Amino acid sequence: MEHYLKQELYELIKSDSKIFDFIQKGSLDGIWYWDLEKPENEWMSEKFWTELGYNPNKMPHKASAWQGIINQDDLNLAIENFNKHCSDPTHPYDQTVRYIHKNGSTVYIRCRGIAIRDDKGKPIRMLGAHTNITEITESKIEIEEINRQLNEKNKELEQFTYLTSHDLQEPLNSIISFSSLLEGNKENLDEIGKKSIEVIVNSSHRMKDFIIALLEYSRIGKQKVKEEVNIIELIKNLKTDLYDIIDKNEASINYIGKPLKIQAFKIDLIKLIQNLIINGIKYTDTETKPKIVIDIKEHTQHYEFSIKDNGIGIAKEHYDKIFEVFQRLHTRNKFSGTGIGLSHCKKVVELHGGEIWLTSEIGKGTTFYFTISK
Ligand code: ADP
Repeated sequence: MEHYLKQELYELIKSDSKIFDFIQKGSLDGIWYWDLEKPENEWMSEKFWTELGYNPNKMPHKASAWQGIINQDDLNLAIENFNKHCSDPTHPYDQTVRYIHKNGSTVYIRCRGIAIRDDKGKPIRMLGAHTNITEITESKIEIEEINRQLNEKNKELEQFTYLTSHDLQEPLNSIISFSSLLEGNKENLDEIGKKSIEVIVNSSHRMKDFIIALLEYSRIGKQKVKEEVNIIELIKNLKTDLYDIIDKNEASINYIGKPLKIQAFKIDLIKLIQNLIINGIKYTDTETKPKIVIDIKEHTQHYEFSIKDNGIGIAKEHYDKIFEVFQRLHTRNKFSGTGIGLSHCKKVVELHGGEIWLTSEIGKGTTFYFTISK
């Protein structure tokens, strides 16, 4: 049963043509009605032409009128869809086509239509609508272009970081070996000489740490295909790799989640978890034995990791800052580091379509959370 207002509207349109005029003028669409038995004849509403910059009163109701100003490749696409729609009503006659506006600019039109068929199913008329989607299409094109440029710039930057850090290693290695040589013979130096050589050796080692961290940072995302990662094995291997730091700090690392196997960029994921564990061990008071607890919760669309420590904690006002490159909260005398670790983590998480955040209590500890999409 049709709604009574719809029925009423049908009757009104039949009895009063002004109602139809109102509908076609009020709608955002241009309307067209095509005689498929005499395909040169096509009626087009005013809006059809005003959107293209033409005076509707001066335009003939002929299919040739629009076929002359539509982009010819798009006309071919429309004809192809038209033919398919005529032989198969379920194939939609619906496409975005480009028209040339009277002022020469391009107008993007979404053009849809439905064939009206006789008793035998032969299409005899076609009724359709034109919607001007130029604004949306142009913004989309602009965004795509900006994205393309951004990606290009990002790649250039990564390349630059990689090359400079790679090339810087060589002279730095020379400085390290020669200053270490001098350090080995420092009894021949006076006090100033001894102090200077100590500073050079320390600084050049710190510089090497920076360069290695930068190199690793620029390498993120090199793996193109995800692979299966067995979490239990990953944690076991990490404990072996981190044996020295675990042993020295009397730290414990426990995984309390399920024995999951997940799809991920393995090398990047290892580095991410490793960075968070090392930070959890590093940022503790000397008298505290670090306890790291790792958990993973499985959700429908993603996995949520948590890495909890019993360290010094982080003040709320620093929650965002610490994820930026080179941002550190302590002097290097208290805790050594480059300030790249967490930005590295963030980049890896984003690569996996996830997010990273934390909760923390000063003096009690911090929990870092991150998600990895399935
Ligand atoms: P780095 O450890 O090399 O300084 P990160 O980017 O890994 O660099 O960390 C940035 C800063 O965030 C650190 O300098 C430290 O102040 C703070 N931080 C990171 N992890 C923790 C943690 N688990 N507990 C307390 N502070 C932390």
